[in-house]
Amino acid sequence: MNLHSLKQKFSQSSAARRLSAFVLCMLFAAQLAIIAPLLWLQYQGDLSALVTSEKSHLNRLLDADQQAILANPQLLLSKRVLGVMLTDTAGNVVVTEGEVPKSDVSFDSHLLATERTGSGSYDTLWVLETSKGRVLATVRLNTQPMRNLLVKSLVLCVLAAFLVSLLIAGLTLMLTNRAYIRPLSKFSEKLHASRMESDGGIPKNIEFNETEDLNPLAEEFNSLIDAQRKAARQIKVKQQYLEYAAHHDPLTHLPNRLMFEDALQKTVKEAVKTSSQFVIFLIDLDNFKFFNDQYGHLVGDKMVAEIGNRLNTMIRDIDLAARLDGDEFVVLHKELADQEAVEETARRIMQIATSPYEYRGFTLKAAVSVGISRFPLDVHSGQDEEMMGEEIVNNASVALQEAKSNGKNQYKLFNETMRSRLTARIRLEQDLKLALVEGQFEVYYQPKVNIHTRQITGAEALVRWRHPENGFISPEVFVPVAEEAGMIIELGEWILRTACKETRKIHKLGYDTLNIAVNISAVQFTDGNLLPMVSKALNDTKLAPGSLELEITESAVMHDPEEVINSLHELSRFGMRLAIDDFGTGYSSLAYLKRFPVDTLKIDRAFITDISSDNDDVAIVEAVLGLGKHFNMKVVAEGVEDEEQLKFLQSQGCDIAQGYYISKPMPLDQYLSWIKAWAPGVQGIDDSENVIDITEPKRFGT
Ligand code: C2E
Ligand code: CA
Ligand code: CA
Repeated sequence: MNLHSLKQKFSQSSAARRLSAFVLCMLFAAQLAIIAPLLWLQYQGDLSALVTSEKSHLNRLLDADQQAILANPQLLLSKRVLGVMLTDTAGNVVVTEGEVPKSDVSFDSHLLATERTGSGSYDTLWVLETSKGRVLATVRLNTQPMRNLLVKSLVLCVLAAFLVSLLIAGLTLMLTNRAYIRPLSKFSEKLHASRMESDGGIPKNIEFNETEDLNPLAEEFNSLIDAQRKAARQIKVKQQYLEYAAHHDPLTHLPNRLMFEDALQKTVKEAVKTSSQFVIFLIDLDNFKFFNDQYGHLVGDKMVAEIGNRLNTMIRDIDLAARLDGDEFVVLHKELADQEAVEETARRIMQIATSPYEYRGFTLKAAVSVGISRFPLDVHSGQDEEMMGEEIVNNASVALQEAKSNGKNQYKLFNETMRSRLTARIRLEQDLKLALVEGQFEVYYQPKVNIHTRQITGAEALVRWRHPENGFISPEVFVPVAEEAGMIIELGEWILRTACKETRKIHKLGYDTLNIAVNISAVQFTDGNLLPMVSKALNDTKLAPGSLELEITESAVMHDPEEVINSLHELSRFGMRLAIDDFGTGYSSLAYLKRFPVDTLKIDRAFITDISSDNDDVAIVEAVLGLGKHFNMKVVAEGVEDEEQLKFLQSQGCDIAQGYYISKPMPLDQYLSWIKAWAPGVQGIDDSENVIDITEPKRFGT
């Protein structure tokens, strides 16, 4: 037992020690309180016995032989009588022997009864009735032996009382120690041991049946431990949940990007170590934004959850399906070697993702694009594992974008050409941003003429990009990129404002019947801000709405016809004219055409080009012209490149022609010169005969 535990024991038993000290004191005091009066009473009894016996002894002496006493007063004294003074009734002192207390005494003073002097003696006054008459005796009795006895008894009693108290106190100490202190210290030892064994964790429950009194303490301790254990379990569950939530997507319950990246790193490491292969399938829902807008986000979420679930059921245990983003999933497939197997899996993924899904009466069908990259085939070796992981995901993403830009709803396996295409595209996007800031765009004008009157009706505005290094870049190349990057909104607004401003300029020069047709991208059309943007441009440039025609491609209007009808009506109400561009190339519903407030149909130039050789195209052109007539719409034939085409269109009753035969698109100043050169010639032409005249201004074309 070390010093510490000794000290602990000592302090633990201090209550018992205090208790026994208290017992000792109280017991001792109580005994004293009893013994002292008893001894005093004893002493008083002895004294009065002494007085009585000495008084009767003296009385007897005086009665027997007074003369002898007087002659020899020594006889009056004894061990117990120290002095005697006898006084007769007249008050004369008859005898004085030994130590006599000094006092005037008389028979009256016997009323005082007794008088005490200093310690060891007792003075008393007696009236003695003798045969010779009454005698007054003043006597000093020796009480010293009695006092000694008293003191001796007292000392003995006190000693005995103290010993008894000590004994009882000791007993008390022992009993309390046995009953409480020892169990308590054992109890505390158990607590201590339980804590030490737990090694910083939650202590073990203790078993304690040393004494019943400590049972509640042990129970309390155990229930505290239980509560702690329960709390610890709850914390653990919470931690597990947090851990799960940090690595899983709440909607699909699939692993999230974090977990996928983790798994990917492990897979790369393993594949490097064992020289094995694996494949990444990056899956993205096509037109999911449209899907969400059409059916609402709740349905969109259900769809995503359903596809996530299907992917998860499809994969093997060793593979991983994760949700990376809103509508983007990834499947990490191990040990897929040859291309045929990879493509088979891709087809299976597409099939299960796109099979119909019933939800609240809707039959939903998603379309997905899949980008695929294989390890180690598609990654550069010799880099660290983390970079390889990044590269394979990037490659799959490149393949996915290729699938998307190739018309969606397909899978693509990564190859290096894709990467260079993508790099070029990214550069183009960056250049486009700069071009917008630096004003590298121009608007060109391609005239349109009335086939019958030969009069110029206006022009189509076509954007041109003069790249500082690469020269002119075709809108067919950069417009789709601007659309995808969202830049078409800003660019489109700039084109519209420029076209309106410059047309207004042309009007001011006296050609105020000429209209201007501006191409509106599907992205601008669905942006929701088209009408305010157009009306502001018209307002700012003071161009009459009737002079503006908006060209919207057939595929854009047919994408969501019901929604488009409203927008078209709004635009039409505002006073501008509407044209359906590239008519005949897309899916056209004639039923909708009836409901569209459209003024013009533009026959796509693909049908005009082969008009002389392809009977199908002739039939299509005739059909479009018939439709135009029926719905009272003007029909514009674009891409007219030669005389023959123009003659054919004229014979078929087509209203307006546009094409290189008339003029190529040109910048504003050339267009103005063209108008000036053309206009005088036009006025004098008899529309029925000389169509050749309109070739004259061709020299103005670029
Ligand atoms: P589009 O709207 O169908 O425009 C007609 C295209 O046909 C123009 O090509 C025009 O130069 C070309 N073209 C006109 N006549 C002939 C011809 O006789 N023969 C041939 N081979 N081609 C002819 P461009 O300017 O390269 O524009 C191509 C497409 O780019 C446009 O097709 C349009 O979809 C888009 N685009 C052009 N400018 C804009 C614009 O300002 N905004 C938007 N959103 N798209 C534009
Ligand atoms: Ca057009
Ligand atoms: Ca067109």
